[in-house]
Amino acid sequence: MRLTRYLVPTLKEDPKEAEIVSHNYLVRGGFIRKVAAGIYDFLPLGLRVVKKIENIVREEMDRAGALEILMPAVIPAELWQESGRWDLYGKELLRFKDRHDRDFCLGPTHEEVVTDIVRREVRSYKQLPINLYQIQTKFRDEPRPRFGLMRGREFIMKDAYSFDADWDGLDRSYQAMYEAYTRIFKRCGLEFRVVEADTGNIGGTDSHEFMVLAETGEDRIVSCPGCGYAANVERADFKTDYPLSDMEMMPLEKVHTPSQRTIEEVSKFLKTSPKKMIKTLIYSTDKGEVMVLVRGDYDVNEVKVRNIIGANWIELADEETIEKITGAPVGFAGPVGLKFDKILIDKSIVNIRNGITGANEEDYHYVNVNPGRDFPIIEEKVVNIRMPVEGDRCPKCGTPLEFYRGIEVGHIFKLGTKYSESMNATFLDKDGKEKLFIMGCYGIGVTRVASAAIEQNHDEKGIIWPISIAPFEVILLPTNWDKEEVRSVAEKIYGELLQKSVEVVIDDRGERAGFKFKDADLIGYPFKIVVGEKGLEKGIVEIKSRKGDIAVEVKIDNAVEKIIDLIDKERKKYLPE
Ligand code: ATP
Ligand code: MG
Repeated sequence: MRLTRYLVPTLKEDPKEAEIVSHNYLVRGGFIRKVAAGIYDFLPLGLRVVKKIENIVREEMDRAGALEILMPAVIPAELWQESGRWDLYGKELLRFKDRHDRDFCLGPTHEEVVTDIVRREVRSYKQLPINLYQIQTKFRDEPRPRFGLMRGREFIMKDAYSFDADWDGLDRSYQAMYEAYTRIFKRCGLEFRVVEADTGNIGGTDSHEFMVLAETGEDRIVSCPGCGYAANVERADFKTDYPLSDMEMMPLEKVHTPSQRTIEEVSKFLKTSPKKMIKTLIYSTDKGEVMVLVRGDYDVNEVKVRNIIGANWIELADEETIEKITGAPVGFAGPVGLKFDKILIDKSIVNIRNGITGANEEDYHYVNVNPGRDFPIIEEKVVNIRMPVEGDRCPKCGTPLEFYRGIEVGHIFKLGTKYSESMNATFLDKDGKEKLFIMGCYGIGVTRVASAAIEQNHDEKGIIWPISIAPFEVILLPTNWDKEEVRSVAEKIYGELLQKSVEVVIDDRGERAGFKFKDADLIGYPFKIVVGEKGLEKGIVEIKSRKGDIAVEVKIDNAVEKIIDLIDKERKKYLPE
C-alpha cells in the first residue's frame, strides 16, 4: 500500500475526549473517528486491525468445531418477550417500531435468536452437540460510553452458543471454548488472566471472564499467589477475621450531628474512625427495598446483594424512599429501633463495639451502638456482602489476595436451560423423550481487544502492535523521496515484498524524514525499513523493530530476505504451542 493513495489522517494534537492511551492513539493514528457517543467509523487502518482480530477468532472457533452463522442485528420483540427479557433488560436495549407499529430491538446479545434457530432446525440428540457463532455488530445503549472502542454503544462481538443433550456435554463444550479463548488471546499478544465471574440470577454454575491486565481496566480482580484462585471482585470470596473487642459496652446515647451525613463527615465530627461506623444503605430493587449494613470503611458488593435477594436490578434508593422508610432525610439512617425487616448484615458489623449509626432523625446519630443489644443480629441475615480489600485472604488457601485491574475481553457462561425452558426449545433424546437443550454462551469483544492490546503495548510515541494484529507488518521509509536513488531502491524492495505477500506499506509522501518517523511510530508498524542517502552510499538499508529490540544494517540485496526472516520469527512468538 502506498501512503499517498491511502487514508491515514494522523493528528498532532491529543483528542480532547480521550482519557486513556488506546483511545488517544486510535484517534491520533487515524484508525477510528467518532460519529456519536460510543459510535465510530473504522478507517482503513482500523478496519485492518479489526479484520486481523476477527480472523484469529474465526480460526480458533472453527478449530474448536463451532459453526459460523450470521443473525440479524434487528430483532422482533416477540422473541425477547418469550424469554421475558423484553421487560427485564432495561435501557441498554435500544427499542424501536417499524412502519407497521411493530416492536423491534437492536440486538445487544443473541440468546433468543439462536435458540429460535436451534429449536426449529435441530430435532434429534444425534445432531448434538452443536455450537453456533457469529461475528457481528452489537448495540447496547450504555449509560456511560467512553474510552473509545473500550466501551462503545455500537461494537463488534463474537458471540457463540453451544447446545448439548446433557450437562456433561455442556462441561465439554465449555472447556473447548475455554481453551479456544486462551489460544485466541495469546495469539492477539495479550497478557491476561482467567477469573471466576458472577453468574448472577441466571443461575448457571460456571462463568469465567478473560481479563487483560491493565491499569486502565474498569474491572477489579483478585488473585491468589498461593493457589491460583482468581475472581472478579464482584464474585470473589475471601476470609477475614473480625476480632471481638474486649471493650465494655457503654450505654446507648443519641448525639447531635448537625448536617453531618457521610461516613467521613460523621467520623471526623465525632473524632472516631470509619471502622466504628455502621453504614446503613437502602437499595431499591425489583424485589422491593432492602437495607444493607456494612462497616464504615468498606463498600457494599451490590452484585452479591442482588444475587442474595434474587433481584434483576438494584440501585441506591432515592431520597423519597429513604425518608419513607427511616423517617429522616438521607444521611441519618440506622438499624436501631427501625421496624424494617428486609435487612442484610455484613459480617464486619457483628463484632463492632460501641459503634455509631444514624438515629433515623435529622441531624442525630447514635453512639455506643452494640449490635445484638441495640438491634437484633439474626443469624440468617448475616452474610459476606462487602467488597474485598487489601489484607483479605484467599478463601481456598488463606494466602493474602492480590488486586489487579482488568479489561474484560471475553466471557464464557454455562446457561443451562434458562433459554431453552422459557422458549420451549427441545429435542428428542435417545429414549424418545422431549428434552430441553443445555446451553452455554461465549462472547469476545472484538473491537475491545484492539483497545486492550494498545493499553498493554505502547510507549510515549505511539502503539507497538503485536505483529499478529498489526494493520501492516512493515513500513518502508525512504527518508528523502525526492532523491531518485532512494526512490528506486525503496520501490524495488517494496515490489519484492509485495511479491512475497508481506503486508507492507511504503511512505512515498514527500514529507520530512522526522515527520514520517513520527507517524510510523504512532501507528506502530512492527518493523521499519529505512532507506536513506547515507546508507545507500555504503550500500545498506536499516531495519528497525518498533519494540526497539532490533536495529540492524543490511546490504540492499539482503534486505528482503532479512525482513522476511524477522517477520517470521516475530509471528511465531504469538502462536501457542
Ligand atoms: P461489561 O461488564 O464490560 O459491560 P458485559 O459483561 O456486559 O461487559 P458480555 O455481555 O459478557 O459483556 O459481552 C461479551 C463481551 O463483549 C465482553 O466480554 C466484552 O469484551 C464485550 N463488550 C461488552 N460490552 C461492550 C461495550 N460496550 N463495548 C465494547 N465491547 C463490549
Ligand atoms: Mg460479562
